[in-house]
Amino acid sequence: MTADAPSAHQALLSFLYQVPVGLLELAADGTVTMANPMAAQLLLPLLREPALDNLYDALHERLPGLREQAQALPPGDGDAELTVQIDASGVAAPRVLELRLVRLDAERTMVSVSDVTAAQVQEQARLSARVHDAQRTDALTAMPNRQAVLDVLQQRLDGHGGPGGATDRLALLLVNLDRFERVNTRLGTEAGDDVLREVAARLSGVLRAHDRVGTVARVGGDEFVVLLDGLRQPDDAARVAQRLQQTLAPPMLAGGQALHLAASIGVLTGPHLGPTAEGALHAAALAMREAKRLGGARHVVYGADTREQALAAARMEHELQQALASRQLFVVYQPIVPLSPDGVLGLEALVRWQHPERGLVGPDRFIPIAEASGLIVPLGAYVLEEACAQFVAWQQSLGPAAPAKLSVNVSRAQLQAPGFDETVRDILARTGMPPSALQIEVTESLAAQNEGIRATLQRFKAAGLAVALDDFGTGYSSLSSLHQLPVDVVKIDRSFVQLLPSSAHHRVLVQATLMVARSLGLATVAEGVETEEQADELRRLACGGAQGYLYARPLRAGDVPAWLVEHAAEPAQA
Ligand code: C2E
Ligand code: CA
Ligand code: CA
Repeated sequence: MTADAPSAHQALLSFLYQVPVGLLELAADGTVTMANPMAAQLLLPLLREPALDNLYDALHERLPGLREQAQALPPGDGDAELTVQIDASGVAAPRVLELRLVRLDAERTMVSVSDVTAAQVQEQARLSARVHDAQRTDALTAMPNRQAVLDVLQQRLDGHGGPGGATDRLALLLVNLDRFERVNTRLGTEAGDDVLREVAARLSGVLRAHDRVGTVARVGGDEFVVLLDGLRQPDDAARVAQRLQQTLAPPMLAGGQALHLAASIGVLTGPHLGPTAEGALHAAALAMREAKRLGGARHVVYGADTREQALAAARMEHELQQALASRQLFVVYQPIVPLSPDGVLGLEALVRWQHPERGLVGPDRFIPIAEASGLIVPLGAYVLEEACAQFVAWQQSLGPAAPAKLSVNVSRAQLQAPGFDETVRDILARTGMPPSALQIEVTESLAAQNEGIRATLQRFKAAGLAVALDDFGTGYSSLSSLHQLPVDVVKIDRSFVQLLPSSAHHRVLVQATLMVARSLGLATVAEGVETEEQADELRRLACGGAQGYLYARPLRAGDVPAWLVEHAAEPAQA
């Protein structure tokens, strides 16, 4: 023994006593030849008797094969170790012990015992945090989900409630995609999922791009929440709503198609948030639905009367349903006239609602509601049948004084409803309406929208119907795409006609439109002509036809024959 041997042994002992790991040395049969206090501390609670003479015997009940497994280890190979765990949770606090055995040589085996409970508890916590996270994360977009964003909002509301509190700096925006269901039904849910992920990315991008503090969450199928914090003024929220709208505008590619998406957004700010997150979400939903009723692609800021308006709209939807059944709806006809000679080119059918209490209700009030609720499909069919039947009756009774064309407005929801082709065919057959006398009016943005709609319009054209592009200039198809649209007539929107005499800019636009339309062989009609001045300008620009109060207001069916007879001075040209 060298001189320093005792101190080395001393050091080893003190080390063995201090390490937070149990260490044992066993003889070949399992007899414990050395154990540090930690080994005793960890193992004794597991044993029946407070003695640790032979480890294999002592642990026989818990680890019956331990002796054989240990003896099978190759001696002298430090890498060949045996690791076993003992679940000691029944004994003390939740505890898991890990034993590692290494055979030093034929005679001796070293065993380490460690309490891995702490590590296991940590892992458990990590796992459950992940599960918890999963419960708060939307799997599709990896965004916070409904519960998560409600929690965040509730915390903010709890912390800063009360008048003049920091809720003035908060805003909740509920974003619901317009007509998203058709993406799923027509392109499949996979494409739908792609679109939702893209929407999520774009919405989040708005906050980043404008340095906004906030949270974006997906709270339902095609519904997102943008929770804004740190607003300087309440108007900011509406500005963000516009930005969200803009970010959705560029087409998205899904299932090989370019989709145009828009959203209805309910905006809830400051005191309207109220005390509970759930309540706030509900209020935002009312405003969002109001945006839908107004035709979508817009935001509505929740105000004092939003709740009332929502109720009124719901009531109107219900009443409209009854109106359809009880024939409160009727059709008026507005003449479309040639700009130069006298006469009439056609009639546009426009629906009206004779409400038992409200009186006469205009389509601007109820068509958006009908569109949002799907009622537009039966309503549109009713108008089409009514107008066709009337038109045929006039052709028979008025002979040459009867107009050559009937123009009927068709909404997007109708064009996309399954079976619309058959509906039109049936109505034509039932009423005896010649297809060549019928023109359908679709809005410019609608016609430009997608391949499916263009195909539907092509089918109508092939069947002999004419297609007019309504409200031209207000949508987002441009002059340059006019040639791609299956249309016969371009109707220049009233807003352009109104500004014609005063705005050189609008004059140029109308002139360009008329030139392009002419070069494509399309007929042109100016809408909303109210003054001789407007008519003169349009004539100068060689517009084909006109429609407006200057010539006639929409007429009740009973008033149409007299008007026609009076104005059929010269033979009309179609
Ligand atoms: P629209 O297709 O652009 O119809 C023209 C609208 O302008 C009509 O309003 C008409 O009364 C009005 N108007 C005509 N001349 C003038 C004028 O000189 N000055 C002004 N200020 N206005 C004029 P109306 O009848 O209230 O219809 C509003 C909209 O409702 C229509 O716009 C159309 O988009 C929709 N609509 C009407 N009937 C139907 C229908 O049966 N089905 C569908 N889907 N939509 C319809
Ligand atoms: Ca129209
Ligand atoms: Ca129009």
